[in-house]
Amino acid sequence: MPRPAPPAPRRGRFAPSPTGPLHAGSLVAALGSWLMARRAGGEWRVRIEDLDPPREAPGAAQAQLAALHRLGLVPDGPVLRQSARGALYAAALARLLDAGHAFVCHCSRADLAVHGGLHRACVPGARRPDPAVRLRVPPGCAIAFDDGVHGRVRQDVHAEVGDFVLRRADGLWAYQLAVVVDDAGQGITDVVRGADLLDSTPRQILLQRLLGLPTPAYVHLPLRLDEAGRKLSKSLGAAPVEDDPVAALDAAWRFLGQAPLAPRPPGPSAWLVAALAAFAPARIPRGAPGRLAATHNAPDPEGA
Ligand SMILES: [Zn+2]
Repeated sequence: MPRPAPPAPRRGRFAPSPTGPLHAGSLVAALGSWLMARRAGGEWRVRIEDLDPPREAPGAAQAQLAALHRLGLVPDGPVLRQSARGALYAAALARLLDAGHAFVCHCSRADLAVHGGLHRACVPGARRPDPAVRLRVPPGCAIAFDDGVHGRVRQDVHAEVGDFVLRRADGLWAYQLAVVVDDAGQGITDVVRGADLLDSTPRQILLQRLLGLPTPAYVHLPLRLDEAGRKLSKSLGAAPVEDDPVAALDAAWRFLGQAPLAPRPPGPSAWLVAALAAFAPARIPRGAPGRLAATHNAPDPEGA
């Protein structure tokens, strides 16, 4: 008698864009995704999201991977690079086009400006040499999911987002399509990432459904912002974290609402062992302390 297949292993991931050094903001996502995966007895993968060459810094991907290693955050399995996966995105796009879920769009940004930048129907007669491809989002298309930190999240994708881009007019792949193809391709069961992507998640779940792919569990972590309220990666002052690995891990840990580790472990490996034993996901705040009103506990604000 054949035995039933064992349940798929839990697998999390960290997916940085190589736009600069690993900074304190991206370390929150790296550490949070590592803790959630390891706590579930699962694997932790890393994917380099290098879809947008003009935004990339030379050598940044290697520097980020080296920084993760110095922090003791060593990925299981091969590191994926989105720049090498265009054929897979093209195959997914072809399936969406064949099924009538996607369409070629000649509208310009100016055409859409009168509709608040949202696309719900093509402008008649518009032609351009470099059309985009969009997903058709019909009226009434709403997606709801249960986030591990934010609870029930619902978005009317038609009303709030409209027909969204899958392949850009400049030929680059849109993030939404690539991340859906890659999460499925890497067997990711648990997506743990920054809350700046919370409103992208309904689009990704819609694409998963249309492509017949599984939907992972989602956890959106609070974002570390700079003094001006900008995401840290966009801040000029986003300092790399390598100088003192344990201090950097401690800061990310406190930002995740966790109680200080005592005694303070001497190095990253011992620190991660202690953190995994002490990790309490229910303490993760919804928003950055002092920045957003919606927190369901009162973490100690890390001195940012
Ligand atoms: Zn159009």
